[in-house]
Amino acid sequence: NPDHQLQFNITVYGKGNRLMTVRDVTRLNQLEVMRKDFVANVSHELRTPLTVVSGYLETMLDSLGPDSGLPPVWEKALNRMQEQSLRMQNLVADLLLLSKLESAEAQSDENGVHVKTMLNSIVEDGRALSGENQHQISLDCDEDVFLAGSSSELRSAFSNLVFNAVRYTPLGGKIHVRWWQDKEGGHLMVEDNGVGIDPMHIPRLTERFYRIDKSRSQNTGGTGLGLAIVKHVMLRHGGKLSIRSHPGKGSRFVCHFPEKCLELEHS
Ligand code: ADP
Repeated sequence: NPDHQLQFNITVYGKGNRLMTVRDVTRLNQLEVMRKDFVANVSHELRTPLTVVSGYLETMLDSLGPDSGLPPVWEKALNRMQEQSLRMQNLVADLLLLSKLESAEAQSDENGVHVKTMLNSIVEDGRALSGENQHQISLDCDEDVFLAGSSSELRSAFSNLVFNAVRYTPLGGKIHVRWWQDKEGGHLMVEDNGVGIDPMHIPRLTERFYRIDKSRSQNTGGTGLGLAIVKHVMLRHGGKLSIRSHPGKGSRFVCHFPEKCLELEHS
């Protein structure tokens, strides 16, 4: 039946014996398409009501003052509501981005980025997230090179790595961002001397909502989708993400881009 999708698997055992298994994955693939559509639709539908709620909360907070006559507990409640609605907005934005990344649709901003300019601005954002010199964040990028691809996707991937380094490194820690090129292509490294990751977790880190310490991660302000986004952005750009870490010593995330992604002049 041409409508059926089959998966073949050959296992070699003993002295050259082979076992072939055939699995009908038609239903599984249909369910995966339904899951993706559902997540994309729900995220899309949630976006407008969340923007409205957030807008009204902002107006109410702006109008608060000593003469407003509202008890202080109201102000606290409104601030908490605004924080949480912002958290939901970030989550919905990340879910929508992941849906787009999975849909393989071309992005409207696929005209490449100047690596140094983008990294400078992301490092500035990382410093702002860290607060007044709470972490030492250094950048090492001398190359004048353009990276072919979508600027919003690349910015999102690189920002997730730098922001994670800030979130999972205690105050006073060091974060090093470095871009270099060799005959294999371009590489972006984000290294920190933070809490580190037990090696048993590394293979699962890029799964959606996979978190080592759930309560700790939720307090950091991340959405639980950051590394899943990095992985998908790298796949779309023909590259890959590598992760090395030592618990208690720190982590190193490297995005490897193939040479075909590098351009000396803007196209
Ligand atoms: P989030 O940070 O929002 O939980 P991510 O997908 O970005 O989601 O990261 C997944 C998990 O990987 C985090 O919950 C954290 O446990 C771990 N992690 C990510 N980056 C680092 C890092 N630089 N150092 C230590 N752990 C990290």
